Amino acid sequence: MSASKRRYSASDVALAQFERAVAHMDLDPDLVAYLREPRRELIVHFPVYLDNGHMRMFTGYRVHHSTVRGPTKGGIRYHPDVNLDEVRALAMWMTWKNALMNLPYGGAKGGVAVDPRQLSRNELRRLTRRFASEISLLISPEGDIPAPDVGTNPQVMAWIMDTYSVARGYATPAVVTGKPLSIGGSEGRTEATGIGVTITAMAMMNKFGMKPENTRVAVQGFGNVGSVAARKMWEEGCKVVAVSDVNGGIYNENGLNISNLLEHVARTGTVVDYPDADPISNRETLTAPCDVLIPAALEGQIDDTVAPDIQARIIAEGANGPCTLEGEQILLERGVEFVPDILCNAGGVLVSYFEWVQSLQSFFWSEDEILARLRRLMIEAFEQVWDASRQQEIDMRTAAYTIAIQRVVDAIEARGIYP
Ligand code: NAD
Repeated sequence: MSASKRRYSASDVALAQFERAVAHMDLDPDLVAYLREPRRELIVHFPVYLDNGHMRMFTGYRVHHSTVRGPTKGGIRYHPDVNLDEVRALAMWMTWKNALMNLPYGGAKGGVAVDPRQLSRNELRRLTRRFASEISLLISPEGDIPAPDVGTNPQVMAWIMDTYSVARGYATPAVVTGKPLSIGGSEGRTEATGIGVTITAMAMMNKFGMKPENTRVAVQGFGNVGSVAARKMWEEGCKVVAVSDVNGGIYNENGLNISNLLEHVARTGTVVDYPDADPISNRETLTAPCDVLIPAALEGQIDDTVAPDIQARIIAEGANGPCTLEGEQILLERGVEFVPDILCNAGGVLVSYFEWVQSLQSFFWSEDEILARLRRLMIEAFEQVWDASRQQEIDMRTAAYTIAIQRVVDAIEARGIYP
């Protein structure tokens, strides 16, 4: 393997994290072998007409890791690097996240290898409809409910919902979450992940007596998760000193005005060239002088080349799998505390669950109700993980995994193995 390649794939990381937790549990090895494997994996190759009249082939995936606790739930990603290994890892992480939050769901993930920024709106619509049709073998309100992830948004969910509904002859809003409000989306869904990141990051700060006014925050990624987390941390009184997106980063030691920055991003499409800050690289965003680091971009960003230089005391994982195994090891040895991804970014799937329940019942809750439930359940899960971590003297991720894995194991044992 060349030196420039990551040493471990996303699935290697997911499995290693799983094994690390299993080592602290008393589980039947046969069940461990069962849980390592996804239940089913669908790969689809499909054609889409581009605006120039040419047809192009695309490859997409939908993986169900576990269906034991209920229908599967997990996002759909549009990104050039999407591949089966990554989707498989993300599906497994969804199983643990859903179990940790005690949601009646198994874990799934999907994606298409495509750069959505290179497609026109019409091309994106055609691609989404064809992909939705290809994976309609698997998705349904009772069986598997997609949601947005990197590169997808409420509009993409609306197209998936419409494609599925047209095939059935009636509107089926509960087939996806993260939909626009006009077709049964939930209040609070778009912001839910970033809000959950802030709730859990603040809960962790509180454990160490860190006051918002004395806390500096750096955020990698300024999309759905990162921009909301940055705004919420700023509204809580923290100093957000560094943020980045795929184009680069910015730094201001006195703190950025996130409201002004959001206006700049709405105007220009990037954080770069924001006037009231110095330009920095993506790496410098991760290593910026700060107390809380929120990686909210992609997997594998914090590796062994950057981990030794990270200054944060707390890492609140907005992204899924932002640390490599070696990166995490270095940080744990240095005493850095993690709010692990399956806890930190679970606000999204929590409000997705609320949305699914509302869609099934055609009965809608107010934003206040949703945000109050979100806060209560995030804090409850945080405290469970914190207690398990301190009682068993294990890191927060391992603690979160032991709780989640045990819930899945309990469900397998209750249901039994067919036949
Ligand atoms: P998004 O597409 O809205 O935003 C991604 C952001 O990351 C963009 O600002 C992009 O420019 C930036 N980015 C990409 N590569 C980068 C790089 N190398 N350096 C710096 N920035 C980079 O995606 P999102 O929905 O915000 O998801 C971000 C992460 O959060 C992913 O890991 C996703 O799986 C996870 N997540 C998302 C949700 C959700 O509800 N959207 C829920 C749970 C977890």
